[in-house]
Amino acid sequence: MRHALLLLAALAAVTALAFRLASTGGMVEIEVGETWVGLSFPVAVVGLALGFLALHAALNGLAWLAGIPARRRAARAARRRAEGDMAVTRALVALAAGTPDSARLEARRARALLGDTPQTLLLAAEAERLAGREEGASLAFKALAERPDARFLGLRGLLRQAMQREDWAAARRLAEEAEAVQPGAAWLREERRVLALRMRDWREALALAPVDAPRAALSLAAAGQETDAARAAELEKQAFIADPGFAPAALAHARRLAEGGSARRARAVLEQAWLAAPHPDLGQAWIAGVADPLARVKAVEDLIHRNPDHPESRLLMARVALDAGLTGRARTELEALAGSAAADRRAFLLLAELEEVEHGDTAEGRAAQARWLRAAANAQGAPRWRCAACGAEHAAWKPDCAACGAVGRIIWSAPGAVPARA
Ligand SMILES: [Zn+2]
Repeated sequence: MRHALLLLAALAAVTALAFRLASTGGMVEIEVGETWVGLSFPVAVVGLALGFLALHAALNGLAWLAGIPARRRAARAARRRAEGDMAVTRALVALAAGTPDSARLEARRARALLGDTPQTLLLAAEAERLAGREEGASLAFKALAERPDARFLGLRGLLRQAMQREDWAAARRLAEEAEAVQPGAAWLREERRVLALRMRDWREALALAPVDAPRAALSLAAAGQETDAARAAELEKQAFIADPGFAPAALAHARRLAEGGSARRARAVLEQAWLAAPHPDLGQAWIAGVADPLARVKAVEDLIHRNPDHPESRLLMARVALDAGLTGRARTELEALAGSAAADRRAFLLLAELEEVEHGDTAEGRAAQARWLRAAANAQGAPRWRCAACGAEHAAWKPDCAACGAVGRIIWSAPGAVPARA
């Protein structure tokens, strides 16, 4: 409505101007050499306006003609982009559906249409991987890694490939490069942790360990790899603090304290560990420096006074009592143990030994001995260091299982079989 009113006003103004010019009159004369042109003033004004309009139209037409190639190029590019986007979508669908041939085809098409962008390179790499063509994937990941805007993506792909083919040295190098590009990425942290475990780099594994990791085992393992004595001592202490019931850590920590002249603190560590989880090695360390058999009995009394009924406490006391000739004391401990469900083969073997010490080579002694030996044969075996993952037995604690490679799974445990009792 406003436009119509404006147009009407403009027309009225032009008409008024035309009437005004027509009524003004006058001549425009142009003389070039011998040629003379004379025009009335209104005709000259109208001619000039028409000439201007014609020139304007001609220039516009020329510009339109000159723009044809550029417009064609833009249209073609838009079409390629649209087709490329569709190829990207189809490649994603093929990847999700797990159809490698069409994923590769569409990824190649997308790359041809859109060029090497981070998206098309990543699609190409994933499609190659899906098709089992690791070399093709490698090339695409390397191309990605060379782009500053997608370096992390490329390194991530190459790292995954290196870990898959168990090339740990290359994986570590790639992880370091990726860490430099994107420090603290959660995914990378997990990969580095797995890598550290695979490379048996316990210090790194400990540094990257999640909260639920076996920290005592990792700390002790790291201490074993540490060349600096002070740092090793600190790691052993950390292992003991993380799990006072983890005998190897307590033993290592106590040994280090004793070597440093803190015998009293070393004994406190052994005592605390015995209270947390009695282990034969702790008992042996406790009496190691005591030569006199009766003094050993006294020393063991000191060690076990807070958990005297524990099977390991009874076994240790029976052993030192028997060595000191205190057969009555030994029998009290062993019969109490044999009467409980917790007795294992060691208790019955000690009882057989006790009968021999008490009765010597007599018919009564032999009969009693035979009875305990039969019970020992039927009892469950002694606890050992066992891999909780594969069940393999180990003579001593180790950070990883040589049989199955599991890390932090070797634990002190009784055989799983239900014992048959005498
Ligand atoms: Zn194992």
